Order: sequence, then structure tokens, then C-alpha cells
Amino acid sequence: MAEHESLEFGKADFVLLDSVSLEEFMANLKLRFEKGRIYTYIGEVVVSVNPYRAMNIYGRDTIEQYKGRELYERPPHLFAIADAAYKAMKRRNKDTCIVISGESGAGKTEASKYIMQYIAAITNPGQRAEVERVKNMLLKSNCVLEAFGNAKTNRNDNSSRFGKYMDINFDFKGDPIGGHINNYLLEKSRVIFQQEGERSFHSFYQVLIVLLIHSVPSFSPPQSSINDGADFKAVADAMKVIGFTPDEIQTVYKVLATILHLNSKVVAVIGVLLATKEENVGKALLYRTVATGRDVIDKQHTTQEASYGRDALAKAMYERMFCWIVGRINDVIEVKNYDAKVHGKNTVIGVLDIYGFEIFQNNSFEQFCINYCNEKLQQLFIQLVLRQEQEEYQREGIPWKHIDYFNNQIIVDLVELQHKGIFSVLDEACMTVGKVTDEVFLQGLNSKLAKHAHYTSRKLSPTDKSLEFDRDFRIRHYAGDVVYSVVGFIDKNKDTLFQDFKRLLYNSSNPVLKMMWPEGKLSITEVTKRPLTAATLFKNSMIALVENLACKEPYYVRCIKPNDVKSPLLFEYERCRHQVEYLGLLENVRVRRAGFANRQEYPRFLQRYKMISEFTWPNHDLPSDKEAVKRLVQGCGFEHDVAYGKTKVFVRTPRTLFCLEEQRDEMV
Ligand code: ADP
Ligand code: MG
Repeated sequence: MAEHESLEFGKADFVLLDSVSLEEFMANLKLRFEKGRIYTYIGEVVVSVNPYRAMNIYGRDTIEQYKGRELYERPPHLFAIADAAYKAMKRRNKDTCIVISGESGAGKTEASKYIMQYIAAITNPGQRAEVERVKNMLLKSNCVLEAFGNAKTNRNDNSSRFGKYMDINFDFKGDPIGGHINNYLLEKSRVIFQQEGERSFHSFYQVLIVLLIHSVPSFSPPQSSINDGADFKAVADAMKVIGFTPDEIQTVYKVLATILHLNSKVVAVIGVLLATKEENVGKALLYRTVATGRDVIDKQHTTQEASYGRDALAKAMYERMFCWIVGRINDVIEVKNYDAKVHGKNTVIGVLDIYGFEIFQNNSFEQFCINYCNEKLQQLFIQLVLRQEQEEYQREGIPWKHIDYFNNQIIVDLVELQHKGIFSVLDEACMTVGKVTDEVFLQGLNSKLAKHAHYTSRKLSPTDKSLEFDRDFRIRHYAGDVVYSVVGFIDKNKDTLFQDFKRLLYNSSNPVLKMMWPEGKLSITEVTKRPLTAATLFKNSMIALVENLACKEPYYVRCIKPNDVKSPLLFEYERCRHQVEYLGLLENVRVRRAGFANRQEYPRFLQRYKMISEFTWPNHDLPSDKEAVKRLVQGCGFEHDVAYGKTKVFVRTPRTLFCLEEQRDEMV
């Protein structure tokens, strides 16, 4: 339970609501937001509402208040969750993870940074130089990743356009000794196209503005929330600190410049930047080499093919560079020479900051992947939260009763099942020889999934108003219905980059660039294997992610975006209600309440409530704290609502705790 705040601020834990209804949940969320209480618990889950203003709650003094404390002793905060994850890791030798979810602009990335800052602040009391170095690297890596992976969108001025999972490794003393970053599905299409009012990745503007400042003396950057000039310096500095060589940094700038030039078609400049002959660049852009039986011929592109190829090149170069940057950071931060025999177990806290559910006006392949990712995470949440509860009850010797909930495994299967799932149907369509269209894919879906309860399409439900176009299909996600348009699925899934480009880049005399394109080594006659499709790659990476998270003890942060105008004052009720629904928060409260709402170790419980019983105040003379708690509870008449575990007392309903808190308030 959270500390017993005055009711003026609402309930600090949704489990304490008088009854679980959407209305009550929303009223509490709104009240707390308006009172500046942006965090609220559901048991050990933190619900966070983006305040859109600087909050004075992340400073050194606040950190000190949360250090080593139990969740319910302080107002709800990210720090409490970070501390709980850290304690579990340190005390019980558990690998833990913190999963942060929510839609774009809800505050996930900020939350992940506060969590990292907290962990950095509470560790390494001995000020060991090596640990300080690692901490610095981990914090600096954020700055670099944001420059290359974030962009201004209409939803968020600093929107992460990739999913990120970061492991922090700790030694036996509980100090950080390294880390590892995994990145997921960078939105590379942003390199060639942005919606009105949006920008490409920050890195392009940072480089451009610096060039402008240097070459046009009278140039002064326009006022905006983003300071590209200053950011450029910070990123360059961070890259240096992390250990990127001057050649590597130069190559990164050259790749950025190449992509910019590709859009203006200055072939000669690209030749210089890529350290390759101008005519080779021109040739790769206009022709492709194809092997027909024994012959190898140069086939000229149509205009359409040529512009497709150029765009694919720009996207692929950026994506490759991004992955290479992540790889370079990993080289530096990864734990080396850790000897478990000498140092004990090396434990991990993972932090996942990944795109939330997306429902747009027009939903395509990208939204489909992102929403699949959320189905996977929801499935994990169900498994882990229930498992965690079950394990605790077992550990404490308390009987466990099963709780019913909607299991979304059926939707996960709909997407990922071998041979039958949507990804399989898509891959099959892409494999068809000859001209494949998005319609062929849709036909495949309709014939395979006609009877599936969570799938329908315009063809199958012609009178359904939400399915407006012939190319629409709809998935009933756990979070709600989403209509997808199949337009572009085939192209995006094939994600073709002509071999000619790979060879062009591999043959560059710039060794850094060459390293990014190892598969360009193969000659045209050697290339036989079809590269994996985008869907398969994504599916595999999601399965690996979930496997990795599943063996850790999870902590959750659920972020909510209160309005679309970045206002600190506005709580748009409908908007928030929708998020509460699709994050499954109400269900979460129910699951939590169906079990025991609260559990506390006996000494802690006594410490908090001993003043309400004559047997325990000021001290008890019973043989154990457990006995003392029993006496206290009996005195209050709550026995029916309480179970006694080995080390903890379990309280079933929030009302009981509430009464305890009230009695305590009367005494103190
Ligand atoms: P997401 O990663 O979910 O897309 P961000 O974490 O980038 O969202 O947050 C979007 C913006 O909201 C931030 O740039 C910041 O202006 C504001 N914001 C988010 N969390 C906080 C916070 N805890 N305190 C103050 N402002 C915040
Ligand atoms: Mg983000």
C-alpha cells in the first residue's frame, strides 16, 4: 500500500477504491492528476500521467527518501519501483525488469531515464572509478541513441522511433558493471517521408545546422523547443566519451550527408562521401545486375524502380548505421572478464521502453507490428503477474486460488502461428513468384481466417461500417478493434534492397562503411538465400524479447497521456478513459483485489500499526512478531480477512487496511 495520504489527493493505490468501476478509477486518476499526484499504484504497478511540466520530485532529496524503503511507506513514485526492482535483485539475487508501456508522448522515455538516474544515484557508495565510468557510459548512451533514433512528431517533440531494451548488469555488491542494449523496429520510412509538421531523425538537423552556422556567418537558428546546435555538440561529445573514433564519427556524418544528397540526386558528391567511384553510384541507382541462368546482365530500372531503389537505399543506410551505432555502444558497455566464481552472481535489471498500442486513422504494416508487440507484452503480463502472485503465496505457504481473466493468447496465435497466422500468410504471399499484390495477401487472409473470432474483413463482413474499403481487415485486439489497410504490406514485408547497393557499399574504401555491409561480399551468382522478411525478423525479435523478460521478475510502469496539446492542466476524460481501458488497468485492479490486496513483513506491519493495540504498544512480549500481529488483528476483528504467511501478513481487502490506517491516524 502507498503511504496513507490525505484523501484530498485521492487513493494512492487503485486497489483501495471502494468498488472497482471505470468511473471510480477515472475519478481517482483525474483527482490525483489535478492535485499534482502523477503517480498511483495498482499494487506494485505504477500508473503515471504525463504532467507536461517540470515536477520538483526527482532531486537528490527525493532519491534519499525512497532509498531502501518499501513501496507503501512513501507516496507512489517511479523511484519506489526502481528501488523495489533493485532490492529484489540485491537481496534475493533475482534478475528483474521494468516494463514501461503507454502510447507515444505518454512519458515512457522520461520515466526510463529517471529510473536509470535513480539506480545510478543509489549505487557505488564506494565511488569505485570503474563503476563510475560504466554509469557515465550508460547515461551517455541515451543521448546518442536519442539523436539517431528520435524525431519530432505531432505527438511528441522528442519521440522515440524505435523500441529499446536495456540491461544493466550488477556485480555482487550491487554496483553497475556494464550493460547491453537491444533495439527494435526503427521507423526508417521517416528518412524519406514525414507527415506535415513532423521532422526526420534529429541527427540530420544537428548536422545541417552546424554546417549552416559554419558556412553562413549571419545564420541564427530559429527558436524552437529543440536546440539542434547544442544537441550536436552534446552528441559529438557523448560519442567521443563512449569511444567512437574520429573516423567512425566522420563516417556517420557522411552517411547522413549521403542520405540527404540521395534526395537531391547529386551522384558525384555521393561517390566522394561513400569513398567509391561516381559511375558505380550512378550505375547502382539506375541498373540492377541479374543472374539469368549462367548469364549475368545489367537491367535498366524503370523510373519507378529507380526511385524505389533510391528510397530503399536511403532507408537501409540509415537503419544499418543505427544498428551499427548500437553495436558499437554495446562493445563498450558490455561486461568483460566477469568471473562469477570470484565475484558471485552477476545480476541484471532490464528496462524496456517500447512503443505502446497504436490506433491511427490509417493503420498499416508498422501499426500491425507494434500492436502485435503489445499483444505479446500483454500475454507476458498475464503470465508473469499471475505467476509472481502464485509464487509469493507458495513461498509464504498460503493457499492459492485461480483468478479468471481474458487470456489474449488467441490473438497472439492469430498473428504469429506457423502456417496459419497472419505473418505466415504474408510471408507466403511474398514468396509467390510473379507479380504479388496486397490483394493476393488479403485473399489469403480471408480464406485462412474466415472463421477466426478475432479476424474479419470487408469481404467477410460487407455491411460492417467500420470496414470502409475493400482492402481493410480488422483485428479484435485485447485493447480494442483496429482496422488495418493491406496497402503496402507486401512491399514493407519484402523490404527489398537491391544487391547492387549492398555490393556498392561493401566495396567502399571507407573501412567503417564497409563493415556495416558484410553481405555485399557475395557476388551476384553466390546470392541464393532470400533474406528474412521484415515480419519474420520482427516476430523473432519479439519472441526473443519475451523469452528474456519471462525469466526475470517484472515491475511495470503504465504511462498515460492526459491530452494532445501538451497541457499541464488538461485531463481529457475520454482520451484517458480509452488508455485505461486498453492498458487493461481495471482488470489489473481486479486481479490484484481477487488475491490479497496487501502484504507486509511482520516487523514492518507492527512498526506501522502497533499503536492501535494494547498488546503491541509500545512493545510486545509475545514470542514472535507474527504472534503479535495475530493479536493485533484479532483485537481489531479482522481475522477473517487476513492470512498469515511465513514472513508476511496478507490482507485481502483494501477496506481492512483502510480501517487500520484510520485507527492509526486517530492515535498519532
Ligand atoms: P514517450 O517516450 O512515451 O513517447 P516521452 O517520455 O518522450 O514520451 O515524453 C514526452 C514529453 O512529455 C517529454 O518530452 C516531456 O516534455 C514530457 N514529460 C514526460 N514525462 C514527464 C515528467 N515526468 N515530468 C515532466 N515532463 C514530462
Ligand atoms: Mg519515447
